[in-house]
Amino acid sequence: MNNVTQEKKILVMGYEVVIGFETHAQLSTQSKIFSRASTAFGAEPNTQACAVDLALPGTLPVMNKGAVERAIQFGLAVGSHIAPKSIFARKNYFYPDLPKGYQISQFEIPVVQGGSVEFFLGDEKKSVRLVRAHLEEDAGKSLHEDFVGQTGIDLNRAGTPLLEIVTEPDMRGSSEAVAYAKELHKIVTWIGICDGNMQEGSFRCDANVSVRKPGGPLGTRREIKNLNSFKFMQQAIDYEVRWQIEQIEDGHAIEQATVLFNPDTGETRAMRTKEDAADYRYFPDPDLPPLCISEQWIEDVRGRMTELPRVMSERFVRDYGLPEYDATQLTQSKAMASYFEETAKACRQPKLASNWIMGEVARRLNADNIDIKAAPVSALQLAVLIKRVFDGKLLNNGARQLFDMFWTGSKTIVAGSFEALDQQTEAFIEAEGLRPMNDSGALEAIVDTVIAANAKNVAEFQAGNEKALNALVGQIMKASKGKANPQQVNDLLRSKLS
Ligand code: ADP
Ligand code: MG
Repeated sequence: MNNVTQEKKILVMGYEVVIGFETHAQLSTQSKIFSRASTAFGAEPNTQACAVDLALPGTLPVMNKGAVERAIQFGLAVGSHIAPKSIFARKNYFYPDLPKGYQISQFEIPVVQGGSVEFFLGDEKKSVRLVRAHLEEDAGKSLHEDFVGQTGIDLNRAGTPLLEIVTEPDMRGSSEAVAYAKELHKIVTWIGICDGNMQEGSFRCDANVSVRKPGGPLGTRREIKNLNSFKFMQQAIDYEVRWQIEQIEDGHAIEQATVLFNPDTGETRAMRTKEDAADYRYFPDPDLPPLCISEQWIEDVRGRMTELPRVMSERFVRDYGLPEYDATQLTQSKAMASYFEETAKACRQPKLASNWIMGEVARRLNADNIDIKAAPVSALQLAVLIKRVFDGKLLNNGARQLFDMFWTGSKTIVAGSFEALDQQTEAFIEAEGLRPMNDSGALEAIVDTVIAANAKNVAEFQAGNEKALNALVGQIMKASKGKANPQQVNDLLRSKLS
């Protein structure tokens, strides 16, 4: 039963969507994959292309060790097999920005094999299997100078190291595809092998999309090239899916093709019919020996790697007792994770810290469109508020008011130790009249007055109407000017009325 409803959920007009991704992550090396030229972005055209990149006769490629290390790091991060021996191949095609007439890539034996990327789609856990990740060089760029009606070639990008990461066709919708891409982006930036700058093309995705009737064989796919924003990715896939379904419903077969997404029209358009592997006449590159990676090298790289988001998330569950969902959210970036850890350690209330960060802090970050690194409220400051709430020295309401004042800068705090921050906060609480009502005698007096004045609510509650209690609590909170502890009020009322 459950399976049936789940399947229904992901069908679009009676079709199942199937998506596989090929992602090009530009590796963060200083120099190119087979030459010493710089990979820095944005230089004057052709100032960063050396003889190797220009494909001058007599030049030979030399493998960049840093690029290989980054491929190993990636493989370790996603649980892949690192091939002890992999092969570089020539992928032959003719294009003006490819002076050699072939691209050096890996074909039959890639350096990274298998593995998987795991993430949450809403609160559902997903796993997308990777087929492979291989090293290759980027091509140059054609610059269409419309004002002179000519096209120039810039070879600065030629030879830039890329890791092409290929998935199985495991994704079943545009939202899942985007969630995968975001997770992959998180992984490569987290481990530092790619700067992840999508505008500059450091992380570009090709989405292979097909549709089929549930249970049928895989449909013919069309490949949407070079998606360089998550927003366009979603739009492009949604458009493509609708287009394919319409074609099929109209009785047309889908032809395998490479398509481009036009953000201005929101449409995808065929660029060329897709080549098959055979068209590229792949063969092993005689200029490069096999890439050999020893166990020792892999272990060295493993030893130097930072804690991965997945591992960190598991640790948060284990050490802080957080739900898996919280742990995943808090490990979206290194900065977010360390903000959480600092808060949790200082206030010793990990779940409260998580609630605050995923709630109030995230809401503020979103509204101001800033990164957690730029948060105006420090982790320690937040910890002070949480600790006070937990100790009953501040009510949730009051904590939220102070948090807002700190965030907007209407109250500023001088950075210092937890104790120093706590003392300053104490002064603000005093000044703003936010001290909770701690005098139980005074509270009891209010409770008695409210009970006496609300015989009807009291009778209703005693007759079993729970809602009537809320009305009483509300009145007491009002009478205390919001300074009573709602939980304490609740307990007191119950004991008096039972
Ligand atoms: P090629 O080598 O021709 O590019 P691959 O077999 O390497 O083809 O597949 C490329 C990508 O397309 C992979 O990510 C794969 O998961 C995906 N893919 C393959 N078949 C389909 C399909 N029918 N629908 C959607 N994606 C597919
Ligand atoms: Mg391919």
